[in-house]
Amino acid sequence: MMQVRRAPTYSGFCGGVKRAWNRAIKASQTGEETIYLSGKLIHNTPAMRELASLGVRELSETDIAEGNLEGRTIIMRAHGEGPVAFADAEARGFKVIDATCPIVTAVQKIAVQLENDGYQVVIFGHRNHPEARATVAYTDHGFIIETLEEAQALPHYEKLASIAQTTVLQADYVDLVEVLRTKADHYEDRGRICGWTLHAQDEAVALASSVEMMVVVGGRDSSNTIQLVRVSEPHCPTLHIETVDELTVEMFAGRSVVGLAAGASTRESDIAAVISFLEAIPAAVPSLVEA
Ligand code: SF4
Repeated sequence: MMQVRRAPTYSGFCGGVKRAWNRAIKASQTGEETIYLSGKLIHNTPAMRELASLGVRELSETDIAEGNLEGRTIIMRAHGEGPVAFADAEARGFKVIDATCPIVTAVQKIAVQLENDGYQVVIFGHRNHPEARATVAYTDHGFIIETLEEAQALPHYEKLASIAQTTVLQADYVDLVEVLRTKADHYEDRGRICGWTLHAQDEAVALASSVEMMVVVGGRDSSNTIQLVRVSEPHCPTLHIETVDELTVEMFAGRSVVGLAAGASTRESDIAAVISFLEAIPAAVPSLVEA
């Protein structure tokens, strides 16, 4: 049968996602018909479908238009929300459960502190990612940059500080820091990629270097999953899937050893289903790789 090697420690729910997930599950058991989410609790479609089946779903424009939200429960997503979203929820009378990952909260506080200390704050991340958007929302003048080119085009500042979306690729951030150093009289690098993300990237690289093919299981819109795909691709053919339904036996023709990595918001059940599928495939050829 096909040999499947899973990333040993950092695959599937990270601490921040576990915490948010557990809060949502607990809230779903309180008897309220609907528990609202400020946005996608986590970036994983099957997981969000599971929550919806339990009555936990995103607050919609229709809900807001219909009103009657006083006393209802809303969960602020793991990526965080800006201060306006919290104030708005309070003003509507929601009971607020904050499921922001504590690591993200710490980054938000660093952003505020840096701005209070007179720094122009830049956040390296994805302009449309809720975490980067929420973090920048805690500052008055902070902004997001996505590319080295944007960093190179910045003017010169007296005081400049950078932080990072917690799930960007470390190597990308290191390159950015080298550019930003040249853009200020006083530069502070306060970007810290989340430890789970860093370890998961390291494990994916090690795994991808020792197998014939990689399968990365995780949300299409999951930043940390996309980085796992990016770091695996230079080493071997890599598939990014959300669920086992996207796989066919033919995709693994001629393969005997497949690696499996998974994003921080991938459910254990989705990982287990992929492993079962892969292990049921007969190994086509003897392994070319040392065990
Ligand atoms: S990947 Fe890191 S920062 Fe993001 S939710 Fe998980 S623990 Fe928190």
